[in-house]
Amino acid sequence: MINLANRVQTLTPSTTLAITAKANELKAKGVDIIGLGAGEPDYNTPENILKAAYQSMLEGKTKYTPAGGLPALKEAIINKLQRDQNLTYGQKEIMVGIGAKHVLYTLFQVLLNEGDEVIIPIPYWVSYPEQVKLAQGVPVYIEATASQSYKISAEQLKEAITDRTKAVIINSPSNPTGMIYSKEELAQLAEVCREHDILIVSDEIYEKLIYGQTTHTSVAELSEDAKNRTIIINGVSKSHSMTGWRIGYAAGDAELIKAMTDLASHSTSNPTTTSQYAAIEAYNGPQDTVEEMRSAFESRLEAIFPKLEAIPGFKVIRPQGAFYLLPDVSEAAQKCGFASVDDFVAALLTEANVAVIPGSGFGAHDTIRLSYATSLEALTEAVERIHQFVSSKW
Ligand code: PLP
Repeated sequence: MINLANRVQTLTPSTTLAITAKANELKAKGVDIIGLGAGEPDYNTPENILKAAYQSMLEGKTKYTPAGGLPALKEAIINKLQRDQNLTYGQKEIMVGIGAKHVLYTLFQVLLNEGDEVIIPIPYWVSYPEQVKLAQGVPVYIEATASQSYKISAEQLKEAITDRTKAVIINSPSNPTGMIYSKEELAQLAEVCREHDILIVSDEIYEKLIYGQTTHTSVAELSEDAKNRTIIINGVSKSHSMTGWRIGYAAGDAELIKAMTDLASHSTSNPTTTSQYAAIEAYNGPQDTVEEMRSAFESRLEAIFPKLEAIPGFKVIRPQGAFYLLPDVSEAAQKCGFASVDDFVAALLTEANVAVIPGSGFGAHDTIRLSYATSLEALTEAVERIHQFVSSKW
């Protein structure tokens, strides 16, 4: 009999992965499932990046690297931050890790003592609470409702802060809501963080996927104080369609970065060498494919949004970024006779053959998350199936 450690007793497996597994199981049985659960672009990694990776292998660059990443990759990231955000960082303020996810994990491990609180806005990306708990921290939630465009206010932040608050997580553009904080909204949040001396974890992984007139601002751009208390988290997964390569980074305070690097030296040794060479090309090479993918996502959003809005009992806010839609389907679920949105999602999979993610995994129980990182044809068919499903049971 194996007695697992206490720290994993309350670990909730990722809902995103669970529904995908169930959908794959049905697909393997020959059921025609359309999956709208994907958290990754449906494009291959651009060819120049693939070639750079292959070339590095041919040149024998297949050995360990420094734990926090190759100096050349850190340089490429430093240049990217200067170019895109006008932010100046040095090599000691950058740590490259195995995807933004593991960089965040490492951050919480070096930041939190038992009982330290981290403020997490709801709806949240599934891994934030679990990672905070794994570091013996306590997630403190602030509910951002649809009526406030799923964004927290400075007042809400102020109210949630206690003596134990160490950090707040800002994810803009957001997974799952697609919302983006404006410069003014960020400035108000940053001011509260300054007053109470708390850190800002700014997850900017969807930075390049923004639509319409919206622009992306990093909270670190706002002032010297905001920069000093912000740890930017980003990576190549979503911007360059490189989810499988597992390269993410943190940019921030040198002491924090050193602790994260020291921890990585014992936990990972280094991010995969070939992937680091690929990421150098991603940041230093041509960026036209980033724009191509962004604009394809925007066209799909334009095409699918009115169709989704037209489903009875669906209330949906137009996202400004990322590649997710988060309709509130509580009315549809109830009118169709389901006790919960989770039950509605389960029936959608088995009866309408469409896989979506229940919002409960993001702390938003009235919603479902649909990813439009799939072909327009599949998207259109999926939304038609959902519409028909709801109409037939209403
Ligand atoms: N942060 C958010 C909000 C995400 O949605 C994801 C991936 O889905 C990540 C971080 C992790 O990205 P990576 O592939 O770099 O680990």
